[in-house]
Amino acid sequence: LLQLYLPLNFLGSAYREIKYALTDMEDMFSLLSANAEIEDVPSAPDLNVGGGEVRFEDVTFAYDPRRPVLQNVSFTVPPGKSVAIVGASGAGKSTLSRLLFRFYDISGGSISIDGQNIQSVSQNSLRAAIGIVPQDTVLFNDSIYYNIAYGRPGASPSEIEQAARLAKIHDFVLGLPDGYDTVVGERGLKLSGGEKQRVAIARTILKAPAVLLFDEATSALDTHTEKEIQASLKDVATGRTSLVIAHRLSTVVDSDEILVLDNGRIKERGTHAILMAQAGLYAAMWKRQQEASEAEQSLEHTDTVD
Ligand code: ADP
Ligand code: MG
Repeated sequence: LLQLYLPLNFLGSAYREIKYALTDMEDMFSLLSANAEIEDVPSAPDLNVGGGEVRFEDVTFAYDPRRPVLQNVSFTVPPGKSVAIVGASGAGKSTLSRLLFRFYDISGGSISIDGQNIQSVSQNSLRAAIGIVPQDTVLFNDSIYYNIAYGRPGASPSEIEQAARLAKIHDFVLGLPDGYDTVVGERGLKLSGGEKQRVAIARTILKAPAVLLFDEATSALDTHTEKEIQASLKDVATGRTSLVIAHRLSTVVDSDEILVLDNGRIKERGTHAILMAQAGLYAAMWKRQQEASEAEQSLEHTDTVD
């Protein structure tokens, strides 16, 4: 039995290695290079970043032409303001962020930053202007230092430390035997979901982009960690244009505008107060989440009594 077990176990871990390697690759592909089909127009100028106004005008998109994913989506995020996107899973929220990065070209309408169509500027300059804190951060198999510095190659050690302080990960890093030289990732120290998010936030702080994109984490974080991360994100977002894909509605209450995406269309839009007064999709989602979090709290309460 042992003989049978060992090779199987070996195969299992080899499989996991391959799977993680693929996850890394997928992430690198999406971060570093683009969809090979997307090309710059000849001698495309760099994006000239001003306040970072983001505008979607009548945007239509499909991964597969037979199945539209976004239809006639229009919204503007004024410089320094924050817009939240909410909606059920599969509604098209993450697709919006991929389109802003120009991982795909749209089939109708336009997307612009500070008045420049993103298809007319160089992809490098476009991606340099946008900072993303993804739903699930995949770190490079390298030192924490490298993972933060990636936000702005050439940053000085003191700038990296400052970013780590702001993201509230500096003290944690100093507590590790190898400090900033600690290797993380699948072949190094495995960080928790919250720690990985903080590394991603530090990276983004260092990058100091005009436009921020948050794909809010869900199950990876417990409620307490998520609240702390939210506070760090709020600091980073101050004075920057931000698009927040939100799962917990409690985090969008202060957004300048909330878009409710349903099946690829904007069904409702407005501030939290306006949407609550409409008593539509958003108000129903809010009510459901309130009930769920009350149930969670009473469970936690029961736990402590036991
Ligand atoms: P959300 O982030 O709101 O959960 P997504 O934007 O990820 O939704 O997905 C919207 C729709 O597009 C879903 O129906 C999803 O299955 C589909 N989709 C997402 N990514 C791809 C892809 N790479 N190829 C084909 N369809 C995709
Ligand atoms: Mg998503």
